[in-house]
Amino acid sequence: MQKSQAVGLLLCGIFSPTICSSQNGVNTPGAPLPILTQVGQIRSLTRSQAVKGYPVHLKVVVTYFEDTAAAPEMFIQDATGSGWVHWSADSPKARPGQLIDLWGITIQTDFSPDIDKAHWTVIGQVPMPPAKRVTFEEMASTSVDARWVEIEGLVRSAEVPPSDCCLQFILEVPEGRIVVRVNGQSTVPDRLVDSYVRIHGACGAIYTAKNQIVGVILYVPSMENIKTIDPGLVDPFAAAARPIESLQRFTFTGRPEHRVKAWGIVTGSFQKKDLYIADETGSVHVQTHQTAPLSPGDRVEVVGFPGFVDYRPVVKDAIYRKTGIAPVPAALPVKADKVLEDDTYDSALVAIEGQLTARAVLPSEEVLVMKQGRTSFSAIGQWKSTAAKEAVREGGQVRLTGILVMEKDGFGQPQLFKILLRSPEDVVVLSNPPWWTVGKALSILGLVALIAFASSAWVLVLRGRVRAQTLELQHKNDQLEAALKRAEEATQLKSEFLANMSHEIRTPMNGILGMTRLAREANSQDEQEEYLTDLNTSAESLLTLLNDILDLSKIEAGRMELNPTSVAIVDVVREAAQLLRHTATQKGIELQYTVTRELSRSVAADPVRLRQVLLNLMGNAVKFTERGSVAVTAQVDQEDEAAIYARFAVCDTGPGIGADKQKIIFEAFRQADGSTTRKYGGTGLGLAISARLVELMDGKIWVESTVGEGSTFWFTARFGKLDRAPKTESELWAANTRA
Ligand code: ADP
Repeated sequence: MQKSQAVGLLLCGIFSPTICSSQNGVNTPGAPLPILTQVGQIRSLTRSQAVKGYPVHLKVVVTYFEDTAAAPEMFIQDATGSGWVHWSADSPKARPGQLIDLWGITIQTDFSPDIDKAHWTVIGQVPMPPAKRVTFEEMASTSVDARWVEIEGLVRSAEVPPSDCCLQFILEVPEGRIVVRVNGQSTVPDRLVDSYVRIHGACGAIYTAKNQIVGVILYVPSMENIKTIDPGLVDPFAAAARPIESLQRFTFTGRPEHRVKAWGIVTGSFQKKDLYIADETGSVHVQTHQTAPLSPGDRVEVVGFPGFVDYRPVVKDAIYRKTGIAPVPAALPVKADKVLEDDTYDSALVAIEGQLTARAVLPSEEVLVMKQGRTSFSAIGQWKSTAAKEAVREGGQVRLTGILVMEKDGFGQPQLFKILLRSPEDVVVLSNPPWWTVGKALSILGLVALIAFASSAWVLVLRGRVRAQTLELQHKNDQLEAALKRAEEATQLKSEFLANMSHEIRTPMNGILGMTRLAREANSQDEQEEYLTDLNTSAESLLTLLNDILDLSKIEAGRMELNPTSVAIVDVVREAAQLLRHTATQKGIELQYTVTRELSRSVAADPVRLRQVLLNLMGNAVKFTERGSVAVTAQVDQEDEAAIYARFAVCDTGPGIGADKQKIIFEAFRQADGSTTRKYGGTGLGLAISARLVELMDGKIWVESTVGEGSTFWFTARFGKLDRAPKTESELWAANTRA
């Protein structure tokens, strides 16, 4: 709201009182926009105002009207200003010089505020408005945009572009160049180029997509608006040719007013617009719009405007004609530092040698960065990258032939130069750098060192592996040897066992047979009874032996299991002692046992197997002890919720066992002394069986012994606690195995 009011007030400040009064001076919100009646009002709108579409009603003169697809242009003008009109195809056609009554609305789609949706009625034909004499600067400032103006200048080049239907030419004026477009003129008039002319037309702008002016164009209704002041030559090629070296030199008369003619042999032609020609006096750069192809060696006549670009002499806007063929002048051999010092080689065909320091291959261009001595320069070839004839490597020595172009600073001092290469043949490789460079040698050395290092590391790894495997093999060998030794020993032991067994079995069997025979022959009943008692003893010892073998085989097969029952340990110890008491007494040995109090309560234990272990140990003690005593003790080591851990000791005053034998006696068929069997009998199975049974009771067995003093056999066992007197066998088993 505020904004539109502000606009209204602003407009009142700009516009004539007529408009403001017609709207009562206030553009109230929602009220219709004021009608603009003067071109000056439209041109002073800002972009945001123009796009509102103010209604427009003007009385104006048409200065330019073009009805072509390429440029549907319409310029109008009144006393207050000039503008551009967007007219649609259904509008009546207008003509320059018509006074029209025009309606439309304001618009700004691009460069300036314009008139859109235009329609008009023709009032009549009037003289064109007076043309304002302008300079290039004024035209470029946009202050006279769309105005009917007058300007003078020299026609530099002219053409009817193939895609267009109207003549266009370049007018050179002080300070710049103007494009002139002549409506309805479809040919280039004779002698137009090179003419000095005065032109009337509508001033237009060449602007970018961002609506910024970058050039000036003059819209001229017809050739009638172009007045020739000084015509161009009838035949520009008819003039005498000037030596190239004379161009741009001092003349008393100053700059020539018309084009000059030169002739020369083409030394280079680039993209059909930059020619380099040479005569015996020198070389020059020729800029042309002509597109007829030329190549080095073509002899040409050139007509153009001598001038300079970037502090270099150039013949501009040139036309040429080929007059023959001639040998290309020999390239001048040059030195890079001299080129910059002398500054006499610009545009010349030169030959220069140098070292390639870098190379950029682009899709349609190849750039070589060269160095000669301390001077660097570049060489540019505009060809497809695949065209490079010889592969030149960086560091290689190269001879180049091409056009030398000086590059100067803002004060005209030579800074750099470049060589324009005409074809891949202009690059000749003199020598490429040896493949074997210090850098490469170092990298190869590095690679070799790396390989050597990697190999040694690998060898070390392999050695380590071999060592580990050797150790493993050795270990396995040792294990095998030990196993072999054990197997041999086992075989030995089994043979011994067989011999023992036969002896052991034969002795009671002989006893049984002898006793049977004697009993049969006995005279008295008492005698017979005595023999039968001995016979019973022999049979029992035979049975014990067979039971031992059976037990061991059961254990070895993993079939031995405990059968726990509710029992007091003290009772088991007592029973075992009682069984041996008789033998001990007979040998005159004292046999005593001590059991701590805790072991008098019932626990879950297998009394048969516990008794078997105790009998083995106590039996041995009694057997091997000649005098002294055998003492058995049983005590509790430890106790937890589920079990008690008991420790038993069977201590004797027998011969003792050597330290070296204390371990092996727990192996099957092992006896501490070879003479044991002969002297005491036995099979070497008792301790082996005891050890396995103790293991089943979660205990350990070991011996402490001193030869000549006696031995103490220890073993431990775990017995399950009973919360209450267990009744069934499974309850007892569960109690015994509780963790
Ligand atoms: P056996 O007594 O039938 O030979 P054991 O396995 O019971 O077999 O005992 C193995 C060996 O251990 C015995 O032959 C004996 O040499 C030695 N030994 C066992 N108990 C004693 C002991 N109390 N005193 C001395 N040597 C013993």
